[in-house]
Amino acid sequence: MASPSYDLVVIGTGTAASTAASACHRAGWRVAVVDQLPFGGTCALRGCDPKKVLVGAAEAWDHARRMQGRGIAGEPVIRWPELMKFKRTFTEPVSHKREEQFAANGIDTFRGHARFRDRQCIEVDGRSLEGRFILIAAGAAPVRLGIPGEEHLASSTDFLDLEALPKRIAFVGGGYIASEFSHLAVRAGAQVTILQQGERLLTGFDPDLVQQLTEKSRRLGIEIRLGARVEAIERVCAASKKGGALRLDFTAGDGRSSMEADLIVHAAGRAPDLAALDLEAAGIEREDGRLKLNEFLQSTSNPAVYAAGDCAGRGPPLTPIAGYDGRIAATNMLEGNHEKPDYLGVPSVVFTIPALTRVGSLEAEARERGMRLRVRHEVTSSWYTARRVGEDCAGFKVLIEEGSERILGAHLLGPQAEEVINLFALAIRAGLSTRQLGAMISAYPTAGSDVQYMLS
Ligand SMILES: Cc1cc2nc3c(=O)[nH]c(=O)nc-3n(C[C@H](O)[C@H](O)[C@H](O)COP(=O)(O)OP(=O)(O)OC[C@H]3O[C@@H](n4cnc5c(N)ncnc54)[C@H](O)[C@@H]3O)c2cc1C
Repeated sequence: MASPSYDLVVIGTGTAASTAASACHRAGWRVAVVDQLPFGGTCALRGCDPKKVLVGAAEAWDHARRMQGRGIAGEPVIRWPELMKFKRTFTEPVSHKREEQFAANGIDTFRGHARFRDRQCIEVDGRSLEGRFILIAAGAAPVRLGIPGEEHLASSTDFLDLEALPKRIAFVGGGYIASEFSHLAVRAGAQVTILQQGERLLTGFDPDLVQQLTEKSRRLGIEIRLGARVEAIERVCAASKKGGALRLDFTAGDGRSSMEADLIVHAAGRAPDLAALDLEAAGIEREDGRLKLNEFLQSTSNPAVYAAGDCAGRGPPLTPIAGYDGRIAATNMLEGNHEKPDYLGVPSVVFTIPALTRVGSLEAEARERGMRLRVRHEVTSSWYTARRVGEDCAGFKVLIEEGSERILGAHLLGPQAEEVINLFALAIRAGLSTRQLGAMISAYPTAGSDVQYMLS
């Protein structure tokens, strides 16, 4: 049987894949998409969206708790199975809807694992698909830790699907997944431990605000072990292959230790999911484990191949970047290479309660670049926005370039920080000065109206 041939074959059906596939289809191209998992990708099924539904419940719980003695009485309770049922109302329709959308748009869909067969051909479970172009939009996967008992680790996907919340949960790694899930789990009643190899959590965020958040997390009852290197994991009762307690061995400053948990979650980072694509068969080169791409998101060794989103590894691994990359790759395939991604001013949020956010440079990065800085840094738990909702953990740091007064970076912690950071993202992307951003007349009383006090 002859291989069907397309203008574009896309590996993946997440945000990057769907954006590029739709744009190329709208331009009149014949397009096919392939996915080995239910259609829809990480964000909608296993990441941002389901996570924030769960975080929303923890926020409601926390708000009610913080307002005890301030006009609210009664102990709120998170009913995990009911919450998961609510979460599924978001995730369950996704795959079917996404598949229907592809079909309605005339995009051919294939289920199965895709691997390259040659430079312009991929194979999906024994079937070949030829493409004038092939877009790799395969996302990211948890990095391998290479420790004995690694197979006992639960993934973030497993955590987001838990039918019942285990009593004792440990997180290996101290990035955003451990921070967000631990804030959720501790409020839902679990005993939570984070084991982080480095000397602080959330290394991509402002260290002063991370310190404030770490203290808050400890006050909530989350045990945080810094400088703790996980060495091995094993079942306490070796006879039971599934279920039962796990033991985790680790080394910390004070020597070797171990602890038991009912669930141990991999939160030690994700990397481009490229291992099973047979890139060599298509002559697609890699460098330090990442795809070797030019500035147009095109493979430097196979011009028929582009990449977008988490697997491209160019911008931060976030959903808006997957969509942005997908648009840029589509434009370059359709019109010839002329669009380059610009990742300046991409905001990033840790959905703890309260949220920690960042956009633009870290203070240390700006100093390393030799920039002349004015740093506005304050703890804001006494400000109206925090006090009104009983929040004791809030602060900000804004980096301003001396002379031009341009905003170089903003770091916010506190109620609605996840919304307010968008104002700073706009300011940084548009190159606004403190005077221009401060000229905004904002609605009051809103968290956004605090921005003017952060600038002067
Ligand atoms: C727990 C969690 C929480 C997150 N929270 C946020 C958040 O709050 N905000 C935010 O912006 N980002 C968040 N992210 C990151 C965000 O989800 C990703 O950046 C985004 O989904 C990446 O989209 P993508 O299109 O690049 O890849 P994906 O959406 O991951 O899609 C890749 C697809 O490719 C498929 N695939 C891979 N290899 C093959 C193959 N060989 N054959 C066939 N199919 C294949 C996969 O099955 C997958 O469906 C979170 C991620 C996780 C894991």
